[in-house]
Amino acid sequence: MQDYLKGLNEPQFEAVTHIKGPLMIVAGAGSGKTKVLTTRIAHLMANGVDAFNILALTFTNKAAAEMKERIERILGNSEARNLYIGTFHSVFARILRAEAHRIGYPSNFTIYDTDDSRSVLKTVINELNLDDKHYKPNVVHNRISSAKNALVGPAEYATDYYIQQEDMRANRPMIAQIYAAYAARCFKNGAMDFDDLLFKMYELLHNNPESLHKYQHKFKFILIDEYQDTNAVQYQITKLLAAAHENICVVGDDAQSIYSFRGATIENILQFQKDYDDVKVVKLEQNYRSSQSIINVANEVIKNNKGQIPKNLWTENKEGEKITLVRTMTDNDEGKFVADTVQEQKLRNHFFNKDFAILYRTNAQSRAFEESLRRMGIAYRIYGGLSFYQRKEVKDLLAYLRIVVNTRDEEALKRIINYPVRGIGKTTIEKCVIYANEQNISMYDVISRAGEFGFKAGTLEALQNFVTMIRYFQSLLTDKNAYDVAVHVGKHTNLVKELFNDKTTEGLARYENIQELLNSIKEWTESPSNDDGEVGDKSLGSYLQQITLLTDADDDKADSDTVKMMTIHAAKGLEFECVFVGGIEETLFPNAMSINTREELEEERRLFYVAVTRAKQRLWLTYANSRYRFGQLVQNEPSRFLEEMPEAFIDKTYAGGGARNQGFNNMGTAFERMNRGNANDAQNIEKKYGAPPTKKPDARPSYMPVVPPSNKVVEHKPSADFVPSDTS
Ligand code: ATP
Ligand code: MG
Repeated sequence: MQDYLKGLNEPQFEAVTHIKGPLMIVAGAGSGKTKVLTTRIAHLMANGVDAFNILALTFTNKAAAEMKERIERILGNSEARNLYIGTFHSVFARILRAEAHRIGYPSNFTIYDTDDSRSVLKTVINELNLDDKHYKPNVVHNRISSAKNALVGPAEYATDYYIQQEDMRANRPMIAQIYAAYAARCFKNGAMDFDDLLFKMYELLHNNPESLHKYQHKFKFILIDEYQDTNAVQYQITKLLAAAHENICVVGDDAQSIYSFRGATIENILQFQKDYDDVKVVKLEQNYRSSQSIINVANEVIKNNKGQIPKNLWTENKEGEKITLVRTMTDNDEGKFVADTVQEQKLRNHFFNKDFAILYRTNAQSRAFEESLRRMGIAYRIYGGLSFYQRKEVKDLLAYLRIVVNTRDEEALKRIINYPVRGIGKTTIEKCVIYANEQNISMYDVISRAGEFGFKAGTLEALQNFVTMIRYFQSLLTDKNAYDVAVHVGKHTNLVKELFNDKTTEGLARYENIQELLNSIKEWTESPSNDDGEVGDKSLGSYLQQITLLTDADDDKADSDTVKMMTIHAAKGLEFECVFVGGIEETLFPNAMSINTREELEEERRLFYVAVTRAKQRLWLTYANSRYRFGQLVQNEPSRFLEEMPEAFIDKTYAGGGARNQGFNNMGTAFERMNRGNANDAQNIEKKYGAPPTKKPDARPSYMPVVPPSNKVVEHKPSADFVPSDTS
């Protein structure tokens, strides 16, 4: 027997060595699904299958690279480089380039990122004489994206009764026209957006028998990881590709399906057995990743979900340390606890930074962790999201504050001189820079003496208004603290309002980030002393100085030995020796946005299951009594998920902050709360949207209906590479 087969357990061996015919592996977390997939590819190749004939679809490109590496190690050659392996988006982009001529695209077509797409949309919306304040490009973009991922093209979109009803109800009846114009414009520009990489791939195969035939016979073996998170268009494409040989192997865990809000559906797992005859189904139940305690907790919590494929996840690993449940007073205490614990564990148990992961529900939560880690000098890296102070909206507000304190800060000035838009164009800015250089004065000096430089009347006025505004902010410095100035700036510039009005997921995240920044300034101004214990100067200047020191942290360490921080969504498939999961509080996790239906709540619980099962040895679950959200101190109850954990494997502890008064006993039962929640939610929904229709027009769960009778599903899920990591 080959060496690579020796370590496998029985069902793993069965899955790896099952060569021909459809194969489905449904298995719990850490049971070796990805390992089986990798080993299976190696085994196929060892048995004469040409790497060129294998297509493997992974959740991230990083995962694909790791798989290739492992296969090379197993086989001792570099054949793996010939595999078609990567995310759906990357693999299909490659195929679309080769086949572009068949669908009228140049082979070097441009791929538009989200910003490009929105900017094209804005142009198109204006050309249609529509108001882009009402037809917000990001809102329209989401709508079009959902359509593409449900395989609904512009023509179908315009004629689908339910879709049109939805758009009417949302008072945006012209989206169909925008969609058509946008698609035409992209085509004319020789460009595809992210969703097109899936949508056009489907169209290519569906409309071009030659292409379909070619790729069906090229990809004699198809393997898909994380199958529970594929959506309608991905499902249809792989079904087409696999139709000739039916050598398709999918691996997934229904308990880890966490992208349904983007159209992914575990139905795909159930459907698989109906799509093919003689599907071999393998269950993997032995977990190799985690300690007994961790598995017990994960199992116990996920049991509360009704719709699960029954699995009994067990492990031979040691019971290990108990899971530590940590209550803190505030989110800052939570951050401090985590940083302290990392430090302590490194000293005591010889862990390295890279053995730790900090997971959270929303990106805005990273701030408190970041600050504490920086203070302790612990190297960290944030995945799938910009570091808090790198985020555009945070930088924008900070840029205003910087210019108020020091008008010579040209970078900050350039950043915000025309943001939010105030009619100071590129040419004007360029002129200012030239004059400043000629006269050897600052750009701000040029602007404040704009009258001397012969600007046109309109421009002159805009520049003068800008200066008046900055001077007003400066006048606040003498008797207001940093927080008050920041709030004034946020309000007066309309920066906060602009973000507040953007109701998309991303807009909401950006608004939360600005609130988070304001919160942190507030906390800083209200704390009695600075970090070095000195009674603080609470001026804006003093605040910015300490922030600048934080932002100046050494970034070179990023790739080496660093603590990893990411949202739980981004952590799928990964494992770490030690894991912290933060903010396990009602309204945050489960998120307030996701408790309106049982389906949503169950998805939050699956997310919790994913978080817990990332840990190999140690797991800390933390929650704060209070945290600043949306500019206010909010008191949160501990998450209902915490009550679902078996006491025997939990250590409870309290870390930091004031009085230890709020115990574990005043939470009410989860059941009570859930019922209370459901009743309220139902009422609220009715109040807001009216009573439900007596006869539901369509049973589909989300906002976008899909055309029957095909098994297309709704919304979309781009692969992790394109997912804005904040998913809340
Ligand atoms: P997830 O559900 O999180 O994606 P998974 O089912 O894909 O997990 P893997 O990541 O493949 O699981 O494996 C989890 C860990 O268990 C890995 O470290 C892997 O090397 C190890 N492992 C899997 N099978 C075995 C085995 N038979 N013997 C030893 N270790 C194993
Ligand atoms: Mg995996």
